[in-house]
Amino acid sequence: MTRQGTIPFFAPDLFEDDRDVLLDLVRATGTVPGQKFILGERTAAFEDALAETLGAAHVVACSSGTSALTLVLTAMGVGPGDEVIVPAYGCAPLGNTVVEVGATPVFADVDPLTTVVDPACVEAAVTSRTKALMPAHMFSVMADMPAMREIAGRHGLRLVEDSAVAQGGVLDGRPAGTWGEAGVFSFVQVKTFGTAGEGGAVVTDDPELARAVRALRNHGQEGQRFVHQRIGRNSRFDELLAAFQLHRLPGLPGRLERRARIAEHYTERFTPLAEHGITPPPPGRNGRCHYVYSLLADERDALQAHLAAHGVDSHVYYPQPLPHQPAFARFAPEGRTWPHALAASRRQLALPVHPRLTDAEVEHIADTVCAFAAR
Ligand SMILES: *Cc1c(COP(=O)(O)O)cnc(C)c1O
Repeated sequence: MTRQGTIPFFAPDLFEDDRDVLLDLVRATGTVPGQKFILGERTAAFEDALAETLGAAHVVACSSGTSALTLVLTAMGVGPGDEVIVPAYGCAPLGNTVVEVGATPVFADVDPLTTVVDPACVEAAVTSRTKALMPAHMFSVMADMPAMREIAGRHGLRLVEDSAVAQGGVLDGRPAGTWGEAGVFSFVQVKTFGTAGEGGAVVTDDPELARAVRALRNHGQEGQRFVHQRIGRNSRFDELLAAFQLHRLPGLPGRLERRARIAEHYTERFTPLAEHGITPPPPGRNGRCHYVYSLLADERDALQAHLAAHGVDSHVYYPQPLPHQPAFARFAPEGRTWPHALAASRRQLALPVHPRLTDAEVEHIADTVCAFAAR
């Protein structure tokens, strides 16, 4: 089958239905008395609304998911001399936020099938310098948070949950973002609760941590302006985006449900392909998340080319494990290897799963993968 145009990986018309609202909000936010464009009452209302949907005590909005990680690590007092155990396979912020606070990232290998950090490898990486664990949910599968809590508890370590890709995911009845002492979300456009710009949030039940993050996001000020209790940074949240996110929040469950249904359909179609070297994520909804739909393919590059030839855009996350990246080479001790992270970086391929896909597009994507397996 040939088709007109390509099915894009991310929806180019993500905010089509909200365009008028966005323009109205620009006017409304721009003309409020007081002219408050950051950290105003809309941000506070957005934080409260998000906390309520999560059943969390505190949500602190900030300028990005990356910044949220840095704020949490700083608030926990992670710094020079400390080690933080992070997945060897994942996005750069897992490593660079640790480096930014002056600590050392220690890379742990991942599970070969789910590609989330392997609890046994985390346990093996604990030393007397370990201060925190920072597991991340991967595409389609949440990290083994019960195991992470158990390991953190037993060794007296702090637990940061990078839930940037997993907003809306639920594991054992508990939402992503609420498993760690602190969790983080990213509102960068393409994430599940993406916005018309940049943003992030810290989620926590710990009032001390919340208070520290709140101060750190605005130059270490607490209460009195221009009085700085500690060295902070600028990681504030935008009032216009807070208003837009408040508007988008009620529609989030519906969009997540659409993503989940598409993912379930893919998994159903792809489960029989295992003997052809294509492995979908495990079936079911517990511990699944649907930022993108990630499968493993022995002939990944050929599958990607086949999809492209049939008008389907796909992405490789990530072409190299973190410790293999030039930026993190100095944190890759001589002789240490991460074989499952390396295998994942050679086999992983992500398919579009965004809620604006039509049923026909979903079917075409599934058919194209199945045709590749059968060829
Ligand atoms: C997107 C992402 C981040 C960073 O979020 P930004 O808002 O882009 O800074 C952190 N961790 C993971 C796992 C992510 O996917």
